[in-house]
Amino acid sequence: KLSERLAAVASFVPTGSTVADIGSDHAYLPCYLIHQKIATHAIAGEVVKGPYESARSQVQQEGLTNQVTVRLADGLQAITPEDQVDTITIAGMGGPLIASILAKTPSALTNVTRLILQPNIHARAIREWAMHNGFAILDEMIMEEDDKIYEVIVLQRGEMTLTEKQLLFGPLLSERKAPAFIKKWQGELAQWHKILEAIAQAENTTAMIEKRKELQYKIEMAEAI
Ligand code: SAM
Repeated sequence: KLSERLAAVASFVPTGSTVADIGSDHAYLPCYLIHQKIATHAIAGEVVKGPYESARSQVQQEGLTNQVTVRLADGLQAITPEDQVDTITIAGMGGPLIASILAKTPSALTNVTRLILQPNIHARAIREWAMHNGFAILDEMIMEEDDKIYEVIVLQRGEMTLTEKQLLFGPLLSERKAPAFIKKWQGELAQWHKILEAIAQAENTTAMIEKRKELQYKIEMAEAI
């Protein structure tokens, strides 16, 4: 059974899509998308040999070798123009890593109309990349599973300008204020207060003054949620 986290990612994949799941590990998501008849074809990309082998044997076990192509490649290099991929999913990594994968091979995005990204931490990096690269937020979701809170960001082609507050908290998530959202930022807020306290006595170097300012700014924003 697919985790709730990956099921949430799957729920944003349009029916009839050709999907590339980058950093697919066991290829659970692409196999699910084919079984559910959501995707017609899928690529599972993996850069590490072990997970790549796991993906291959999973696809074989599920009898999906004709519908799921597993490739050993770095990021979007798993995709060729002939694949006609229109939807990319990247899940279970940090936001900065997801953003760097997207930034590294922009040519692979030419035919892509939707990106479904699930950062474990620092979702801000993804919103910032989107804002500067012709993608706009179509939807956002926040959920809790096994005591961890996950965000899903759905992007489509378009322009958007986000404020610092919207970059950090998410323009839709901060409007909807779901219970998981409140829980996440209350936790972060407590963490920031702790750090600020811990460095209160530190020497007043330029870097330290900057760090305090940044924390105070984030605390102010989070307290205003
Ligand atoms: N996407 C799956 C999920 O959400 O359950 C697996 C997440 S797993 C924590 C992250 C996977 O991304 C690892 O298997 C890792 O090898 C892969 N990965 C990391 N950087 C990558 C890159 N540049 N290109 C392809 N795969 C990558």
